[in-house]
Amino acid sequence: TDTRTTAAHGGAIGLHGIKKWFGTFQAVDDVTLEIRSNEFFTLLGPSGCGKTTLLRMIAGFELPTEGQVLLDGTDISRLLPNQRPVNTVFQNYALFPHLTVAENIGFGLKMLGKPKSEIDSVVKDMLKLVHLEGRGNNPVTQLSGGQQQRVALARALAPRPKVLLLDEPLSALDLKLRKSMQMELKRLQLETGITFVFVTHDQEEALTMSDRIAVMSTGTVRQVGSPWDIYDRPAERFVADFIGETNFLEADVVSVSGDRARVRLSSGAEISATYPDGVTPKGKVTIVVRPEHARLGPPGSGVLEGVLDDIVYLGTDNHFHVKVDGGGTFIVRQQNAKSGPCGFSEQERVSIAINDDVAQILRD
Ligand code: ATP
Repeated sequence: TDTRTTAAHGGAIGLHGIKKWFGTFQAVDDVTLEIRSNEFFTLLGPSGCGKTTLLRMIAGFELPTEGQVLLDGTDISRLLPNQRPVNTVFQNYALFPHLTVAENIGFGLKMLGKPKSEIDSVVKDMLKLVHLEGRGNNPVTQLSGGQQQRVALARALAPRPKVLLLDEPLSALDLKLRKSMQMELKRLQLETGITFVFVTHDQEEALTMSDRIAVMSTGTVRQVGSPWDIYDRPAERFVADFIGETNFLEADVVSVSGDRARVRLSSGAEISATYPDGVTPKGKVTIVVRPEHARLGPPGSGVLEGVLDDIVYLGTDNHFHVKVDGGGTFIVRQQNAKSGPCGFSEQERVSIAINDDVAQILRD
């Protein structure tokens, strides 16, 4: 039977020991990942890290050099793209300019030889799903960029794939439209129950939409977790650095108890820190603290002392750059709770307090 029209739930994808070589260049290096049924899963990483190549192997446009792609436990590694209950939405939409909106959406179903009545009914549902009711007879070329992207989504969703792959589908849109399409994609995923695998290099986009994120670097997966795991509990420097602004501090482990460690900072002050699974912190470690998890105060009030070097006013927030005694810069981000100046001045001595349980020890 044709799974492309019968899927009622999102498929689970298993990537097992995937390696991909292009000639002598290794684009993907031993990736093992479980993508759960019905989840919004994001592959996040800088340009060239292998995200698209991984996605293309799930789609079947590329074959792994080594390793298996499983769908709901079945090996689909050797199936052709059109034999997989998987569809892809590309960055450039790839719509057919000479067809109407409805013809574009129904194209895949027509190729599958579905009867016209069924195609018409699915197209009607899809137009509703992507909020383009009444636009079915328009030439696609008459639609805006955002509307065209929704047609591309509707076309990919029409055959009811078990998995929808999205390769930077929003990058051609302007910022405001991109924000609203992010919400739209999240809604479509929830409403259809289809597993979404989304590729982006934009960390904010990944945090906004995903149930879970895999952070990639040079062909490898560095960390997999919820947006909170990835942002608040980065396991290594690359992940901490790639996802938002971070302070790195050298510290000494004093003691470990349960899932917390006491660490001594360069100032001699001690704070509590969490650490990644599978690590027993000891000796010298690097800890990370997000700028918004620290507070500025008068000298002696916190755990690090220094000189306020720079104040960057951002309307909603102030960024305070503090030259810490003994070396290094620490950035504190504080919300502007009231209007007017922030009450600190550049070159004055300040102290940095770090909130409880926000520091994280890195693996490396
Ligand atoms: P981007 O965000 O820029 O698309 P990406 O993370 O998706 O980057 P890939 O497109 O997967 O990265 O590419 C990973 C690496 O593999 C890159 O260095 C790229 O040049 C290389 N690569 C991809 N496809 C091929 C190919 N067909 N032949 C040779 N090298 C390739």
